[in-house]
Amino acid sequence: MDKHEGFMKALKCRECGKEYPLSATHVCEFDFGPLEVAYDYDRIRQSLTRAAIEARPRTMWRYRELLPIAGQPTVGTQVGYTPLVKADRLAKRLGIRELWVKNDAVNYPTLSFKDRVVSVALSRSQELGFKTVACASTGNLANSVAANAASAGLKSYVFIPSDLELGKVVNSLVYGANVIGIKGHYDEVNRLCAEIAGKFGWAFVNVNMRPYYAEGSKSMGFEICEQLGWRTPQHTVVPMASGSLLTKIHKSYQEFAKLGLVSEGKWHIHGAQATGCNPISAAEKAGLDFFKPVKPNTIAKSLAIGTPADGFYALKVMKETAGHAEDVTDDEVREGIRLLAECEGIFAETAGGVTVGVAKKLIASGKIPATDSAVLCITGNGLKTLEAMTGHVGQTREIRPSLREFEAMLKDEEKVAVTA
Ligand SMILES: *Cc1c(COP(=O)(O)O)cnc(C)c1O
Ligand SMILES: [Zn+2]
Repeated sequence: MDKHEGFMKALKCRECGKEYPLSATHVCEFDFGPLEVAYDYDRIRQSLTRAAIEARPRTMWRYRELLPIAGQPTVGTQVGYTPLVKADRLAKRLGIRELWVKNDAVNYPTLSFKDRVVSVALSRSQELGFKTVACASTGNLANSVAANAASAGLKSYVFIPSDLELGKVVNSLVYGANVIGIKGHYDEVNRLCAEIAGKFGWAFVNVNMRPYYAEGSKSMGFEICEQLGWRTPQHTVVPMASGSLLTKIHKSYQEFAKLGLVSEGKWHIHGAQATGCNPISAAEKAGLDFFKPVKPNTIAKSLAIGTPADGFYALKVMKETAGHAEDVTDDEVREGIRLLAECEGIFAETAGGVTVGVAKKLIASGKIPATDSAVLCITGNGLKTLEAMTGHVGQTREIRPSLREFEAMLKDEEKVAVTA
């Protein structure tokens, strides 16, 4: 490839290895295998050192050599470098020696990990000359495409299932995006978008731009390693929708190890799903290396993909790293959200409840040993899925603005506490 493509060499088929130009395309013509970005690691090794990274601004773009754009980022330049929180109180509740929370619930600008993939996809779309961007989304992706397209002056079309949470819908409409609600599941939205992408000359971030888009997820793993003091965590628990984020966290650890940025250590990648949409975790628990598609029915709508595009590769990563998958019911999702909020002061969306609930199960079963250390990937913000918790979080006590009434209320509650 020519020197103008930064540190990228080509797009490469994951199945047969055939190389393709770095254009807006995502499947191999011969075997329909997914295309992935191939890099020139020898050149990357010369410029990407710990010292170089540490001297750069605290955004995901400090790892720019390992992200698939040719020049400088033009969209989402402030995204990433979210907090890695040492979660001692939650560790105690879950019964593990050491626990960390990677908090993408406060990612910039739309409060989910999707800002990472979108900043890469839209920066690359600009390089390839697109004026209209689009996506098939379970909610967070639509929010991020809408916001980042607005700030870049790009026209956007976002396609979502029509029954999404109000917070996710308003959060797309407010930026002036064209929001199309499809009466059907995400998998039907995705199928329609594949047809539209073939017909219109748009950059569909998770269809024809998918090879670039997906690489953005690696930045979450790079940050985890750096924030842990340049080491890979023993255990990482990752929520799975298409399974892409899980495979890219693994790839990020592999790349940092290959480049000598972290010492060689063993890591285990675990996958989390909701029981109401568990094609990948059901397959892992049954010891299968392929999944059966399901019809989603869960409050964790951001993870409700019944036919996960990267499910096969996610299963492979869990097998290779001796990781496990687990799934949790809607009640366990709510309990996970409450645990994280009450122990750490972090309000995650339903996907976060899935991750915490699954971590709890994996620790209880010994699949994550209590003597080890783990990182939980919290990927979205609870303010976007308020209806999941409404009616499940206690109640406001209403009084008139009077000191006497307040004191009476406390006294009443004391009485109740004593008799209870
Ligand atoms: C999209 C999303 C994920 C994971 O998506 P993958 O398709 O598996 O990469 C996880 N959490 C939230 C909140 C998401 O929006
Ligand atoms: Zn191929």
